[in-house]
Amino acid sequence: MMRKQVVGNWKMNGSAAVMGEVLDQLSVERFSADVSVCVPAPYLSAAVDRLAASPIRVGAQNVSEYGDGAYTGEVSARMLKDVGCSLAIVGHSERRRYFAETDAAVITKLARLLEVGLFGVFCVGETLAERDSGGAEARIESQLAQLHTLMARGAGAERFCVAYEPVWAIGTGRAASNEQISSMHEFIKRCLGPAYAVLYGGSVKASNAADIMALTAVDGVLVGGASLDAREFGAICRAA
Ligand code: PGA
Repeated sequence: MMRKQVVGNWKMNGSAAVMGEVLDQLSVERFSADVSVCVPAPYLSAAVDRLAASPIRVGAQNVSEYGDGAYTGEVSARMLKDVGCSLAIVGHSERRRYFAETDAAVITKLARLLEVGLFGVFCVGETLAERDSGGAEARIESQLAQLHTLMARGAGAERFCVAYEPVWAIGTGRAASNEQISSMHEFIKRCLGPAYAVLYGGSVKASNAADIMALTAVDGVLVGGASLDAREFGAICRAA
């Protein structure tokens, strides 16, 4: 069986001091899951240094769709790799919503990661309106569609995973039900093939992590708010 993956997404939260505290507590533990923390870009290097003796990997929350060059304010995949990152999240719903990232841009970002050998966490998710109108699967299928181009070029299951994050479950305290999670994860695995890991994200906390990760089609979790608290996040990692 695949090792479960637990990915923390700090979003635009935290500070150097908070990061030091959280990572120092996590780094002394050895989890049976593959654990990663995606910290804000200015803290990436420090996080890599801090976790040097730990198997916990450091990731970014975004990457430029462009290669190096005259793109003020952007951070390239090569730079992430250069400072010791192992992975990056692409297509988080907050990026799609507040920064107008399109499905096409998100695929390009994933391709940039794969080019330099970074692992991609490719996020998909439907809005409440899409779910209520019965269009959740169609929305997810359209977000997954362009992955097939990368897969045809050899992007196997060791290069990226999918994170299913229903938009209405993110930061709301209202996780999707186990039935909703299982049914969408099974759908995603039917779309991509069973080898690709599918993580669930949206109000995962220590109290629901074990139940969610016990679902057959769930290969791990993407954790937002609860990942900034070492005790809570540690408990989620142990639940895997
Ligand atoms: P949440 O966020 O755990 O705070 O709901 C999840 C995410 O946005 O990745």
